[in-house]
Amino acid sequence: IPSKLPSTGVSIFTVMTRLANEHSAINLSQGFPDFDCAPELVEAVARHMRAGHNQYAPMQGVLALREALSAKIERLYGRRYDPATEITITSGATEGIFSTLTAFVRPGDEVILFQPCYDSYAPAVLLNGGTPVFVTLRFPDYRVDWDEVRRALTPRTRLLLINSPHNPTGTMLSADDMRELARVLEGTDALVVGDEVYEHILFDGRRHESLARYPELADRSVVISSFGKTYHTTGWKVGYCAAPQPLSAEIQRVHQFVTFAVNAAIQLAYAEIVARDPLAADLAPFYQAKRDRFLKLIEGSRLRPLTCEGTYFQLVDYSAITTERDADFARSLLREHGVASIPISPFLSGVEPGTVLRFCFAKRDETLERAAERLRRV
Ligand code: PMP
Ligand code: GLN
Repeated sequence: IPSKLPSTGVSIFTVMTRLANEHSAINLSQGFPDFDCAPELVEAVARHMRAGHNQYAPMQGVLALREALSAKIERLYGRRYDPATEITITSGATEGIFSTLTAFVRPGDEVILFQPCYDSYAPAVLLNGGTPVFVTLRFPDYRVDWDEVRRALTPRTRLLLINSPHNPTGTMLSADDMRELARVLEGTDALVVGDEVYEHILFDGRRHESLARYPELADRSVVISSFGKTYHTTGWKVGYCAAPQPLSAEIQRVHQFVTFAVNAAIQLAYAEIVARDPLAADLAPFYQAKRDRFLKLIEGSRLRPLTCEGTYFQLVDYSAITTERDADFARSLLREHGVASIPISPFLSGVEPGTVLRFCFAKRDETLERAAERLRRV
């Protein structure tokens, strides 16, 4: 059978984690913590299961969670999404992105993606008959050139998918970027989808510029986030989409046939934690300390770190070591030095990747120390 995604292989996260396990390497590749989530969260899930919340949740998500999210988003970003109609709980941000694109992208539509970009975006566009139009964020700053965005826009542009804080580069969109985005879109009917899964992992006092802060953008936007990064629970796969009612209605039309509903007990547990601690304010300093520790530890190495403003990923330029292609160097680093990373070429299309690797620092200090000791020898 001819593939519907002929140029897409196995995800780089799967490939590198599998190789890391095979070679017993230290895994700084796939983005997940190697420490556990709060025991109270596990207790809360178990409590809700024991209380009998073991059947289907409502299709849009558990109401208590939608209410807690609505209050959180309003408090943080100033826009109120109606919990009854404007929030949809999805199976991770991944399903949120997929259901959103499926709801809005028709054959022949163009979708503007900023590359390097998260690996699920282009396949979700392609599976819906759309065409990804890439705007490239260039080494070493990876900033958006808004004139390039203007040139990429056509009457066929259905939507733009932005991601801030940005995986894999660790850059963030500024308030000026958001104002530029609003200006660029004036007079068009393009939608905006914001992947904001790292909204709480921000460094050096930066502010997250959610689409929800900007009324002229929020009116045409879907804001997508996830609990996995915020609560150290990437394996639970719960996320959400917040969007004006007419957009949410279309997302829900799709979501009900992708998964119908998401794990009930986990949603109830998240509802408690979001209501109790809506700002998740401890997370940024926690990860900033990890970033700084990792940077300090690799100081004696030949890896040159790039700027990391948010997320739990650090890019490094390895050109002082070799000019080998990133995918090859990532493999030799794993096999010969026992440290797994992510090359950025799988996040790029049609441009040279340069000599850059991504390391995940959502790891115990001891893991970072062991990894850095190996990296200093490369
Ligand atoms: N978007 C980005 C930018 C991500 O890094 C990730 C996962 N790490 C996701 C979406 C997917 O999130 P989830 O695991 O909630 O599906
Ligand atoms: N988002 C995670 C990362 O960037 C991985 C998610 C996945 O494995 N699909 O590493």
